[in-house]
Amino acid sequence: MPERLGWRDATRGGAVGLTCRPALRLRARLRFWRRRHALRRREARPGKGLTSGGLTSGAALLALFGCAALIGLEGWHIWSDRRVKLRAVEISATNLARSLMQHTQDSFELTDIVLLDLAERLANDGTGAAARERLHQLLASHALGLASGAHFYVYDTDGHWLASSLPDLSRDHSVAERAYFRHHQTDPSRERFIGPPVFSHWRQRWVVTLTRRLQAPDGSFAGVILASIDAEALAENFARFELGAGSAIGLLRTDGTMLARHPFVPRLIGQSFAHAELFRHRLPQADHGAFEQFSPVDHVARVTAFQRGDRLPLVMTVSVGREAALEAWKREAIWRLGVAGLLSTLLALLGLRLVGQAGQRQEAERRLAEREADFRLLAENSSDLVARVGADGCFRYVSPASRRMFGAAPEDLLGRPVIEQVLPEDRAMVGAAVEPLRLGLAEEARISHRLRHGDGQVWIEVALRATRDAVTGAMGGAIVVMRDVTARKAEERQLEALARTDGLTGIANRRSFDEALAREWRRCAREALPVSLLLLDVDRFKLYNDHYGHQQGDATLRAVAQALAMQARRPGDLPARYGGEEMALLLAGSEPAEALLLAERARAAIQALAIEHDKSPPAGVVTVSIGVATAWPQPEVEGAAATGPEALVAAADGALYVAKRQGRNRVETTETVPPAPPPPPELPDEAQRLAVLRGYEEAGVGPDDADLDQITALAARCFGTPTAVVSLVGRDRQEFVSRVGLECDGTPRADSFCAHTIAGDGGTFTVTNAAADWRFAGNPLVTGATGLRFYAAAPLISPQGGQRMGALCVIDSKPRPPLTPAQERLLAAFAALVVDHMENRRKVAPV
Ligand code: GH3
Ligand code: MG
Ligand code: MG
Repeated sequence: MPERLGWRDATRGGAVGLTCRPALRLRARLRFWRRRHALRRREARPGKGLTSGGLTSGAALLALFGCAALIGLEGWHIWSDRRVKLRAVEISATNLARSLMQHTQDSFELTDIVLLDLAERLANDGTGAAARERLHQLLASHALGLASGAHFYVYDTDGHWLASSLPDLSRDHSVAERAYFRHHQTDPSRERFIGPPVFSHWRQRWVVTLTRRLQAPDGSFAGVILASIDAEALAENFARFELGAGSAIGLLRTDGTMLARHPFVPRLIGQSFAHAELFRHRLPQADHGAFEQFSPVDHVARVTAFQRGDRLPLVMTVSVGREAALEAWKREAIWRLGVAGLLSTLLALLGLRLVGQAGQRQEAERRLAEREADFRLLAENSSDLVARVGADGCFRYVSPASRRMFGAAPEDLLGRPVIEQVLPEDRAMVGAAVEPLRLGLAEEARISHRLRHGDGQVWIEVALRATRDAVTGAMGGAIVVMRDVTARKAEERQLEALARTDGLTGIANRRSFDEALAREWRRCAREALPVSLLLLDVDRFKLYNDHYGHQQGDATLRAVAQALAMQARRPGDLPARYGGEEMALLLAGSEPAEALLLAERARAAIQALAIEHDKSPPAGVVTVSIGVATAWPQPEVEGAAATGPEALVAAADGALYVAKRQGRNRVETTETVPPAPPPPPELPDEAQRLAVLRGYEEAGVGPDDADLDQITALAARCFGTPTAVVSLVGRDRQEFVSRVGLECDGTPRADSFCAHTIAGDGGTFTVTNAAADWRFAGNPLVTGATGLRFYAAAPLISPQGGQRMGALCVIDSKPRPPLTPAQERLLAAFAALVVDHMENRRKVAPV
């Protein structure tokens, strides 16, 4: 599809969008982010009420609010300090203004007294030349005496001077235009007058004028007397007070005219400040006070205190620069705010960290609670039993499935040892399975065992997982999941039984037979017991099938199997279908005679079934041929080739073959199943021993020794045995040099009893039942007609070198209990008698 690049119609498509492939990808990505964001939002608010996130941000806000409050409080304190500071400045400035006002008024009044005195003198003395000269002298001395440094002038009605405190003045100059002159000219009042400051051309300085009207006796205007006070000198007086940078002290007339100011600024003198805040608002309301303002002179922020004169129309102002007044406060404020800010920051950081940790803990607790809820949900609704077991092996938590599994409520099991519930037979196995977990060698274990359940038991499958201490790694307990597998076990057993059973006959099948044979072979080897086997084959069964049909053949096989199974009476006996119409009967622990007997019974029982078989003459009924064999399994001896169970089967099969050949419907047995002979006992002194034996032989010790026979017969009588012999064990054979009740003059040494007697430690050697002893399975005295079962012998020990030459033996065809110690001593005494006799023969023998 061709790509279309362009803008979609906004009116039709809603939002304008790119429709090319990158644009589609972009939209898809946007959708993905939106969905992810929505999912996160949902995750972020799992439920109603205060979430842990809400709590944490609340705590964080609280911490921040606390810090802000700390800073705010400190700020408020600092601000209050500022107000206190300014108030203190106001008070001290007000006090200063008051005292300066007093001082200035005092000074002006002192000067005024001179003016009054002058007016008096002029009225009395007149203004003649002599009087003026005296006046000059007086005024000069007054000018010098007054602290204000004032100069005095007397003007006539035209404004020309008549007298002054100065030495000489030009008379041309008139002050008729000065404000004070016109004031007195027009105002008949004789009150003192403080006029606007004037610039003295003669002194080239600004001066403040204090004047009085001179009056002729008729009351008409007679001139003016004037005291001029140096404005700069006044300002210098104010300079004595240290008020800090930006401060100022001013003396003004009540109409706002500036008379003097410190710092002295000439252009300000005589200027009117009637428009200023002080004169417009403050003075009309109070004679003194203080306020903050931006100076009308230089617009510097100042705290201004003012005091109106109570005697003169003057106003004293003391203005303290706010910056200078607050400088110390500002320094302290900065320092305090810095410390508070630092502390708050530290507190905030600490608080936020704590809040963060608390948040993490809350989150962890929330997750834990969720996990626990999940765990409980799973555990309490599971058909499996879930349990937590403590380090002491007792239940800490048990899910409700315990009612079904143990037949007990969870609360009845809490605190109880788990092992109590395990069937006693399985406890050791459970302990062994848990041990690797306890030792830290494994984390998990699976085990199948039985539990008590009321009076019965249940099979369970258990999965264990160790819980460990995070620090030490020690096992703190385990999480256990148990599943009831009783039904499955029963099914398994059933299946197993089916797998071991032959489908046609209902007896064990070949696989089961093979396993049982191997198992019983090993057991009998351990317990020195014989294993016998009957192998059975139905005679002419092919013909039977052909004649009666295969189904009838099957029925007959079932009947034969049942008849065979009837002969199996002991726990070790196992009837089995060996294959086709061949069956076997395994007889563990049975001797040949018993096996033969059973075989014959089975054969007869099957014949007695009288199942018609026309094609099997002469019986005319179904018969079987049976081969019997017995073996004495040997324990596995290192280095020796042991005979296996196959030899037994082969031997029975051989016997069966013989039975078939000899006409069928009969039982045949092999002589023995030859077990591998045990290694002949080895004697360390064999060479000397044989040499000693040769010595006796040469001395004529041998059969037909009447004395020896007498001893032998006596021994048999004493021990109540039908047989007793004296044997000398040669290199390969043992020879019976004397015998009672035995038709045999010797046997191979390899399977002789006496070879064991002389290989012993010197005491008597007893075999209570030779038929059950694999060592003698090949001994013809055991398997043959003698049927040797009991054998007890004492060795014949040579007095020359202690060699063991042979034995005195008592023998029985019945198994007998072991000898008592007294009997052993008696047997040894008989053996010593034999040795004495042989020694005598050797001694008397011709050299
Ligand atoms: P013999 O006396 O020498 O044993 O002669 P026989 O005919 O029995 O010879 P053989 O043992 O070789 O015969 C085996 C016969 O058994 C062959 C087969 O027809 C029969 N057979 C084997 N298994 C079954 C079975 O499961 N059912 C039936 N009906 N017959 C079987
Ligand atoms: Mg056969
Ligand atoms: Mg057959």
